[in-house]
Amino acid sequence: MMNNEIMSMYPDELEGFVTGLGEKPYRAKQLFADMAKGYGIGEMTDLPQVFRAALLEKADYRMPRIAEKKVSKIDGTVKYLFEMTDGECVESVFMRYEHGTSLCVSSQAGCAMGCRFCASTLLGKVRDLTASEIYGQVVMAGRDTGERVDGVVLMGTGEPLDNFDNVIRFIRLVSDKKGLGLGVRHIALSTCGLIPGIRKLMETGLPVTLSVSLHASDDATRSALMPVNRAYGISELLDACREYFDMTGRRVTFEYTLISGKNDSEEDALKLAALLKKGMRSPCHVNLIRLNDVRETGLEAPSAERAGRFGQVLKNSGINATIRRRLGADVTASCGQLRLRHIQQKEDT
Ligand code: SAH
Repeated sequence: MMNNEIMSMYPDELEGFVTGLGEKPYRAKQLFADMAKGYGIGEMTDLPQVFRAALLEKADYRMPRIAEKKVSKIDGTVKYLFEMTDGECVESVFMRYEHGTSLCVSSQAGCAMGCRFCASTLLGKVRDLTASEIYGQVVMAGRDTGERVDGVVLMGTGEPLDNFDNVIRFIRLVSDKKGLGLGVRHIALSTCGLIPGIRKLMETGLPVTLSVSLHASDDATRSALMPVNRAYGISELLDACREYFDMTGRRVTFEYTLISGKNDSEEDALKLAALLKKGMRSPCHVNLIRLNDVRETGLEAPSAERAGRFGQVLKNSGINATIRRRLGADVTASCGQLRLRHIQQKEDT
């Protein structure tokens, strides 16, 4: 973190910065609260003029800007393309459920993990997002919708455990009571399975819900879909998930994207059930997602009926499973797609 990057600072760090500018310590609390509301420095009218002028001159304020916004006509899901202060763009998706609202945020511009079915990784990783750039997505979505963001899922573009320190800082910022005060239990982190990162996450003691992208029940299939599996195989991954449950008491969710002809047969479902019963042996949940088509990958989603059968086989085997409802199907809500189209359009012109 740069020493003037104010939105990535915890309130006590901000206090050091503010007093360094010759202001009273309590101004830090005001500034922190104003940033949590998404105010531009000019809008922070509770701060003295001279202080605001000093901030404009000395502070690096990285609040993302809404570059593009699409509202689903089907279910009201809002897809944002946020532009960072250096011009990099990432997406977030705001969703409404019966139990509250949720925002899916990006943690990196692009992704280095190389999963075969994913739009976010097609152009590789450009850079990590700072804590403020992740936090700013939540702040701006809240400001724009006028609704409270009740939960956050780190499931947008990027591998959160490949940007560990900034992601942890983001979690602490967004949950700080002086700002948005979002409960850590309402934050879910999705990973492709970087085991050392899962262990480090346990050590923080933060009660984050862990989601693991599994997508296959044997190493050969998983390695073909997800290069990360060559470094961290399924059996060690499930060991880490079991430890995560033992340490945190939080049930782990497994994401399983159904891809036609790759991992979606009844036999695959039976194998997955057996794997989770033997390898996991602690409460878990399987989230089935029918592949969102990404033109460039040449992979296809199975029919809804076939996905339903897969889910039924899991349930019959005693595994908790749900098929994820598709929200915002008309706004390319599948993560990474809006950013990709945006970059491609820029290159075309
Ligand atoms: N890097 C993290 C989080 C971002 S991806 C991870 O791998 O978990 C969020 C989820 O969307 C992951 O489960 C990912 O595998 C899945 N996903 C990526 N591309 C998809 C696509 N085209 N269709 C369906 N799910 C996809």
